[in-house]
Amino acid sequence: MGNRPPVYILGAGMAGLAAAVRAAGLGMRPVLFEATNHAGGRCRSFFEDGLNRTIDNGTHLILGGNRGLFTYLDEIGAAGGLTPMHPAQFPFRDMADGRTWTVRPSAGRIPWWLLVPGRRVPGGRLVDYLAIMRIARAGEDAPLTDFIDAASPMFQRFWQPLARAVLNTEAEEASAALIGRMLAETLMKSAEASRPYLAPKGLSAALIDPGVAHLGGIGCAPKFGVRVKSLDFAGGRVGALETETGVTEIEDGAAVIAALPPGETGRLIPEIEVPGRFNAIVNVHYLLDEAPENQQKRHSEARFLGLIGSPAHWIFTRGDVVSVTISAAGALADQPAERIASLIWMDVAAALGENGTRMPRYRVVKEKRATIAQTPAQNALRAAAETRFDNLFLAGDWTKTGLPATIEGAVRSGQKAAGLAAEFSNNRRK
Ligand SMILES: Cc1cc2nc3c(=O)[nH]c(=O)nc-3n(C[C@H](O)[C@H](O)[C@H](O)COP(=O)(O)OP(=O)(O)OC[C@H]3O[C@@H](n4cnc5c(N)ncnc54)[C@H](O)[C@@H]3O)c2cc1C
Repeated sequence: MGNRPPVYILGAGMAGLAAAVRAAGLGMRPVLFEATNHAGGRCRSFFEDGLNRTIDNGTHLILGGNRGLFTYLDEIGAAGGLTPMHPAQFPFRDMADGRTWTVRPSAGRIPWWLLVPGRRVPGGRLVDYLAIMRIARAGEDAPLTDFIDAASPMFQRFWQPLARAVLNTEAEEASAALIGRMLAETLMKSAEASRPYLAPKGLSAALIDPGVAHLGGIGCAPKFGVRVKSLDFAGGRVGALETETGVTEIEDGAAVIAALPPGETGRLIPEIEVPGRFNAIVNVHYLLDEAPENQQKRHSEARFLGLIGSPAHWIFTRGDVVSVTISAAGALADQPAERIASLIWMDVAAALGENGTRMPRYRVVKEKRATIAQTPAQNALRAAAETRFDNLFLAGDWTKTGLPATIEGAVRSGQKAAGLAAEFSNNRRK
């Protein structure tokens, strides 16, 4: 690695890790600075003493069509860390009337399942399904409501949970282009591309730790607890970066990738415009009894379930831990943890057949800046990977990937920035 050109990467979230791994594969020497003492950023696990379990900051749903992520996992030799769900399906329950249904994407490229009772959303009309085709080609500035009647059953039963899950944004203000792009790569592609994947041992074990170990194994272990305080710009390039431990000169031909959240990117780089609206995600993790009959029942049920007409949006079960996701959480995220946990427990217990009057132990995790708000206006503010500085490139889920701000967007942004950095260095060395 010694004589390879360095690429300095700021931030060891999914974008920074993917950038470092790809840069190493392209013949560069990644030097990764991470402000905290762990990698993963907004996608990580931690041990929760109160539950005596390892939990994720929030359950992350990954789909088979997330090709950037699966390539990253191949690159780090960790393809087996995620568990595919068989069959590829999305079960729902309407809490108002108890009605249940399951969306089952079909095996081929043509989404005929959209029209077949038993595979699709009840109350959907042909016209609603034709709208999906138009949304897949929506223009950048169109809201979802340009295509779908917000008063239709399809809006509440399909588009709302989809917008919350994929964009962390209420469907009423969501970007149609971002949903369309996600649909084109997953639900409208094939059953395989639609297949949900979960991390049975947690996000860090599946996605983060193997990436850190891979980098360590090639002599490029991330530098933890090193916050980049400022960048020094001169002559149209980054000349140095300052951390708490000193100043690093950026030699000619070396590149810098900022894989940071938007606010931090805006702070470090002059004149850059970044999205400024964020939405919260709240996760409530409940520890259930080990009662064998309950265990048996839970394991025979789907490991996740979408709720309609409830403050709880998605329920995921992993062993004896039930994790509930509330996206686009708004004012709910400002409520005390105890109130949130008891507010949603009734619905969660009803959906899982648990005792609703006895609250289990819980842990509430509030991520107030979980993602940018994915409205057409905020989408327009996302920055390109190239900057006006020769040797500086941007990555992060919020950059202009054309994709929703998700793991997949973060990974692909990192991979793209690494490619640009390698191209820059190679050109300089010619
Ligand atoms: C609760 C929750 C649920 C989610 N659910 C899903 C889901 O189901 N599916 C999905 O695909 N996505 C989901 N996401 C989104 C996904 O987690 C993010 O899109 C992704 O993790 C963003 O990665 P990133 O690398 O772009 O940013 P980050 O993870 O924010 O990484 C940035 C890193 O930079 C570091 N840093 C900041 N400032 C500095 C500095 N000055 N110097 C050095 N380091 C610095 C930070 O500590 C951090 O590690 C969810 C997010 C949350 C919070």
